[in-house]
Amino acid sequence: MLHAEGPLLTIDVGERTATRTDIDDLLAEFIGGRAVATALAHDRIPFDADPFGPENRAYLATGPLQQSGMSFTGRMSMTGLSPLTDGLVSTNAGGYLSREFSGADLSVLEVVGASDELLIAHVTDEGVEFEEVPELAGAEVPAVSDHVAETRDLGPENCIAIGPAGENLVRFASVMTYDSRAFGRGGLGAVLGSKNLKAVTFEGDAEPDVEIPNPPEMDVHREAATSDDRMKRQGTTGGTEFINENFSLPTRYFSEYEFEHAAGIGGDAVEEKKYKKGACSACAYACKLPTRDEAEGVETEGPEFETVYAFGSNQGVGDIVDVMKANELCDVLGMDTISAGVTVAAYLASEDEFGNAELAREITEKIAYREGIGDDLAEGVHRVHDRLGVDDYTVKGMEFAAHDGRVLHGQGLSYAVANRGGDHMYAGMLGPEYAGEIDPEGTLGKAELLVEKENRNVVRDSGVVCAFGGDYVTDDRLAQLLDAPYEDLLELGARTIERERHFNNERGKDASDDGLPYDLPDLDAAIEEYYEERGLREDGTLPDERVEPVAADLGSSGAGGSGASPADD
Ligand code: SF4
Repeated sequence: MLHAEGPLLTIDVGERTATRTDIDDLLAEFIGGRAVATALAHDRIPFDADPFGPENRAYLATGPLQQSGMSFTGRMSMTGLSPLTDGLVSTNAGGYLSREFSGADLSVLEVVGASDELLIAHVTDEGVEFEEVPELAGAEVPAVSDHVAETRDLGPENCIAIGPAGENLVRFASVMTYDSRAFGRGGLGAVLGSKNLKAVTFEGDAEPDVEIPNPPEMDVHREAATSDDRMKRQGTTGGTEFINENFSLPTRYFSEYEFEHAAGIGGDAVEEKKYKKGACSACAYACKLPTRDEAEGVETEGPEFETVYAFGSNQGVGDIVDVMKANELCDVLGMDTISAGVTVAAYLASEDEFGNAELAREITEKIAYREGIGDDLAEGVHRVHDRLGVDDYTVKGMEFAAHDGRVLHGQGLSYAVANRGGDHMYAGMLGPEYAGEIDPEGTLGKAELLVEKENRNVVRDSGVVCAFGGDYVTDDRLAQLLDAPYEDLLELGARTIERERHFNNERGKDASDDGLPYDLPDLDAAIEEYYEERGLREDGTLPDERVEPVAADLGSSGAGGSGASPADD
């Protein structure tokens, strides 16, 4: 099986040490990306860790396909114990980081400990240098990029960074790369913030020895370049009006299903503001959305559909320029646009201020700096809804994505049982339900497909392949590229989902955490079907014997480990 190459680099920001550890066997078993990071996280983060404690660990991992130069592979995966869901989360971002990361001679970065001073860690193929950066306290993300440009002649593509939201432990703070690409969901930006790690840079000349099978018929790049998909012009916003008219676009904090101003924030409105093409590394599909409005002085990348919902319809805001401004604000402050937007929508609901985009921006900023009411809202909807007097539209503490489980019942079931909570990328039941391949109505009989889609998405996130590349990097092609039968890859996916579930079980999560804040037909029975399909007990837990530790003893920095490997410095 093809897999990522290169050592695990552990940096302890408290001790200011760096250790490179050979993890070839682990990579051979888990490919890379999300699967290998989840194996590491499961075995090396103590089950009773405080998400903001030095014992929590954050993982940034590449897969083998980042070496291919193929379209849809300019992605990387992050994993850690989430301060938002209190369970393991993985989150994925595009941009141009993956090539720089590999050049620094590593397959996985592990961050542990906590520093007294705000730091940047500079990782090269020759070692790691820690730079104290007290002058960057509270700095927005572009200011971090300016700093590394001035001091190291590096670009934003060399960087992961957090903004003030991460430093202030906002539970849905993102980790940013290339200024505008977010490892968004689950608050891993706050995990780096708790460690006082403002940024990590990567550079070097290492060339991982990954040989990608590349038969001539596998011309993903050409197909991506010549496709006339609407998504290439409008990103994920292309379906906004269709979804609004035929399904649901959650509106005014979930109180309505249809937004009367959807056209004002939909794909055509976004395309009108697009001023050039945007892509991730080597991707000929180029679906990104650099947009600007000169009159209002706003320039950003996006908004994507999720932001259009979170800061648009769900806040009663119908002007795309307002959504662009909110998008830009979240990027520079370093916050997940979905959780931030839904939390602000909850606040607007409590104040009866739907449609007040200026107030929404003011509150967004207060959240990042934990000022006034922003301090409460920085905890997310689950922890603040009582105080606001609104319903708790979250699962496992994670605010819902746009795709409405009240209408797409398979997607609703997926939200209910996902280890990550209310996130649409975990299984993506929305796809076949929107397309009419399965009836959106009803939850029963969907568990088998749900399990398969969850497993499939692990394979994708471990490769690492972009979620938008499914029509091009098909299952067959992925099996060919990764040099393994697809069934074996799905099995790897299942083992990763099991590790997430087991970790969460050890933190006390069980069937009582699998559910929705609204009723769906036969939901309890459908959850039982899911448990059966996954081989879980009736209480939603995984039998211990199904998970064998594989990464606890890799190196001296492991939670229970021994056997030090060569230090960088
Ligand atoms: S399809 Fe879009 S998001 Fe995915 S890698 Fe290509 S440019 Fe990036």
